[in-house]
Amino acid sequence: MNETDEPSSDSSATSVSKDRVVRFHYQIFDEAGGVVESTRDGEPLAILHGRGNVMRGIEDALESRKAGDRFEVTLPPEQAYGPRKDDFTQRISKKYFRQPARLKPGMTTQLSTEEGTRSVTVLKVGGKVVDVDMNHPLAGQTLKFDLEVMEVREATREEIAHRHVHGPGGHHH
Ligand code: ZN
Repeated sequence: MNETDEPSSDSSATSVSKDRVVRFHYQIFDEAGGVVESTRDGEPLAILHGRGNVMRGIEDALESRKAGDRFEVTLPPEQAYGPRKDDFTQRISKKYFRQPARLKPGMTTQLSTEEGTRSVTVLKVGGKVVDVDMNHPLAGQTLKFDLEVMEVREATREEIAHRHVHGPGGHHH
C-alpha cells in the first residue's frame, strides 16, 4: 500500500458513506439468543461501504454512523439468509468437501460451489456421497446484529478500483 495515496482526514469526524472504509465489530444472534458469529475475539471486519461487501440491511444501518457508535439492527430472513425452503436437499460427491472423513449428520459445513462457498447441513453420509440440506443454517431466521463502528476513513484509489478494503480486516494481496 502506498502511504501517500491515503488522504489525511480526522477519522473521528468522518461518517460512513459510499466508498469510505468502515471497520466494525459485529456479533450475530439467532432467534434463540445464541451468538452464531462474532468478530469480538479478533480483528474487526473492514468493508468498502456501498459496494455490497456485506448484506444490504447492514450497509443501511451503518450509513452516516461514526467511529464509537454501537447499535443493534434486526433483519428478517428476507434481508438476511433468505426463507427456509422445504425439501431443499442434494446428494453431493464427497470430493466437494474439504474434510469428508469428518462429516457427521447434523453438522454444518462449507461446500465449494461455482458461486463460492456456502454453508450447508449434513443429513446423511454414504460411502462416496453426502446428502445435505442446502438451506443456509440461518435461513428462515430473524437475526439480531450488534454492531460497533471502530473506524471510518476515506478509501484509497486502489481500494475503490478493487471494490474492497486492503489491510487489517480486509484483503491481503
Ligand atoms: Zn484489492
